[in-house]
Amino acid sequence: MNINDIMAKRRTFSFEVFPPKSDIGMEKLCREGGVLDKLYTLAPDYISCTYGSGGTNVGKNLEVLDCIKKSGKATPVTHFTCIGNTKDDIREKLQTYLDHGVDHVLALRGDLPFGWTGTNGDFRYATELVKFIRREFDDKFTIAVAGSPEGHVQCRSLEADIAVLKQKQDNGADYVITQLCWNMDQFRRWMDAIRKAGVTMPIDVGVMPITSIAGTLTNALSHNACVMDRRLCEIITKYWIFPNPYDPEPLDKFAAQKRADFRKAGLDYTIELIDQYRACDIAGIHLYAMNRYDDVAYIANNSGIVDLV
Ligand code: FAD
Repeated sequence: MNINDIMAKRRTFSFEVFPPKSDIGMEKLCREGGVLDKLYTLAPDYISCTYGSGGTNVGKNLEVLDCIKKSGKATPVTHFTCIGNTKDDIREKLQTYLDHGVDHVLALRGDLPFGWTGTNGDFRYATELVKFIRREFDDKFTIAVAGSPEGHVQCRSLEADIAVLKQKQDNGADYVITQLCWNMDQFRRWMDAIRKAGVTMPIDVGVMPITSIAGTLTNALSHNACVMDRRLCEIITKYWIFPNPYDPEPLDKFAAQKRADFRKAGLDYTIELIDQYRACDIAGIHLYAMNRYDDVAYIANNSGIVDLV
C-alpha cells in the first residue's frame, strides 16, 4: 500500500533492515521462518532496506526488497544515494526497482566513504536527487527524505539544514524519516521550526533500539554527533564495563551481567522515548531493526506501537 495514503489516515509503524554481506546472513534474513517472516508478524506498514556507501551491495539490496515485495506483507522501500551515481546510472537503477515492483524510495546524499570530499556522482545533495527522480519518473515513486532534528553533522547551521529540508519538499519529496535524536527538547524545537519554515511533510521518526553501550556510543559519535540526554548517560554510567565497553576481554568481572542489565534498561529507555515522540506531531515510528527480531518485537509490543496498524 502507498505510504502517503496511510499517513493521510493514521500513523505508520515500520522497520529498517540492511542487506547482509554473506550468504548465511541473507539466508537468516530471507528464508522461510527467517527474520523478515518474524517481522511481518508485527504487521509493519513498510520495511526499508539500506543502500551501502558507493552502492557496493546493490544486488543484495534488491534481493532483500524482492523478498519483501513477494511476501505481500509490507511495502518495500529502498534507500538510494547519490554516491558514485551518474544521471544515467540513477535512471537505470531506479527503473530496475520499478520493474521489481519497488516504487518507494528514500532519496539520500549518502554517507561519504572515508577520504572522499564529495559524492563522485552527478549530484552533490539529496535535494538534486529528489528533483531528478520527480522529473524523470513523475509520480511513479513515493519519495522519502532524511531529516536531522539536531542538524546534519556537516550543515552550516540548523537554519540552513531546515531550509534544505524545505527544498526537498519543494522538489517533490513526500515524507521525512529522521536521523537518531535522543534530545527531546531539541526534537520539539525542530518540529516547531520546520513547521514555521513551511515544511508540511509528515515526519516519520527513526528510532534505534538501545541494546549495548558500545553500539550506542558508536551510533552517537561515528556519523551523527548525536547529543546523549542525561537519562541515557545515567544508564550508560550505571552499567559501564571497565576498562571500556569496546574491550573484547574486559577486566570487569560483572561484564556479562552488566551487558544483560544494560540491554533491558536500554530497551525500556527506547520505549519511553517512543512515548515522548508519540506525544508530538509525528506521522510514524520507524524502528531500525538491525536484522534482528527480538529487540524490536519487545519494543513494538511493550510501547503499544503495534496497535498503530
Ligand atoms: P543532504 O540532504 O544532501 O545533506 C547533506 C549535507 O549537505 C547537510 O549538511 C545539508 O545541510 C547540506 N546541504 C544539502 N543541500 C545543500 C545545498 N544545496 N547547499 C549547501 N548545503 C547543502 N546513508 C547511506 O549511505 N545509505 C543508507 O542506506 C542510508 N540510510 C539512511 C536512513 C535514514 C533514515 C537516515 C536519516 C540516514 C541514512 N543514511 C544512509 C545516511 C545519510 O546518507 C547521511 O546522513 C548523509 O551524510 C546525508 O544524507 P542526506 O540525504 O541527509 O544529505
